[in-house]
Amino acid sequence: MKITEVETVYLRLPDLDAEKCDGTQDTLLIRIHTDEGITGVGEIDSAPLVVKAVVDAPASHSIATGLRSLLIGENPMEIERLWDKMYKGTIYFGRSGPAIHAISGVDIALWDIVGQVTKRPVCEMMGGIFNRRIKAYASLLMPDTPREAAAAAERFAQQGYKAIKFGWGPIGKDPKLDEQLIKEIRGAIGYDIDVMIDAGLAWDLKGALRMAAVYEQYKVYWLEEPLHSNDIAGYRELSDRTSLLIAGGEQESGRMAFQRLLDEGHLDIIQPDLARCGGLTEGKRIAYMAYDRHKKVVPHAFKTGVLVAASTHFAAAIPNGFLMEHTVSDSPLARDLVEYPIVFKDGYVHVPETKAGLGVAIDEKVLEKYRVN
Ligand SMILES: [Mg+2]
Repeated sequence: MKITEVETVYLRLPDLDAEKCDGTQDTLLIRIHTDEGITGVGEIDSAPLVVKAVVDAPASHSIATGLRSLLIGENPMEIERLWDKMYKGTIYFGRSGPAIHAISGVDIALWDIVGQVTKRPVCEMMGGIFNRRIKAYASLLMPDTPREAAAAAERFAQQGYKAIKFGWGPIGKDPKLDEQLIKEIRGAIGYDIDVMIDAGLAWDLKGALRMAAVYEQYKVYWLEEPLHSNDIAGYRELSDRTSLLIAGGEQESGRMAFQRLLDEGHLDIIQPDLARCGGLTEGKRIAYMAYDRHKKVVPHAFKTGVLVAASTHFAAAIPNGFLMEHTVSDSPLARDLVEYPIVFKDGYVHVPETKAGLGVAIDEKVLEKYRVN
């Protein structure tokens, strides 16, 4: 079996608002075609045209090469060897950032092919199904007012979610508003549902310590990205001084970055995004790194149903998978792009055990509607 083409598909909503931290407004899909008629699909969460260039760029020399030229003619079943080939072939502009982001989408598409060839779900081919259903938390941008935040909390609690995360938006601008927001959320849904706060890099260490003391009172389940991603020393001190679980890692790519977050930053929960961290192959290595250190891993996912599927297979195929992000964005890319989306019911996503590969198919009408290239 041979790879015949690596197709990049850039999708974008016409009314994209770049002021919002909302990754469901555009995406880059990867479709890997083969000489046996099987096509695998993957997704990249990055700046779409930057990572498209990583795939499309012609070879410059042996360690500065676009991914397509490294993959054409290769056997798609040999994922780990191809991962290593892509890593080595992009060393000059890679090792982290856009090159690893692009490798992530290719890797997911390769796993989809392996599943289709073997007629088994990806998680089984990754090593086995540890978890048949995974708790999925509702993930939404923090509304501007406490009243809206309380109403949103109630709405998602009624939809069956057992955990809800509020992120970015007004968080970090006014400590009084920050406290009012969590107070109203707890007032609306009580304490049986986990609530997480994603601060979106809002504070310095002192500011984060002050807010951590507030969030402890409201039993926030985790505090995510309170500090700048580069402030590893700050993360270490914060994690050591608060009883809150400190989470982060969605911006990182490659396992070495996650090792730093765990060993130097003392994070309690790491959040690799499978469409950015190096795909399912690198994600599994990262998950075992956390497993060995008795730390938690919860995949970040804020894109389309392709990434929801990849994240579901990932959380099913690792021994420490127990929870994953589930965007509730009403973007048509998040809601409508895949046919047969992963089933969400009573707070859990269910592994598509009877389907081959990722188990999702692209709705070509939706794809053509939002396709830019
Ligand atoms: Mg986040």
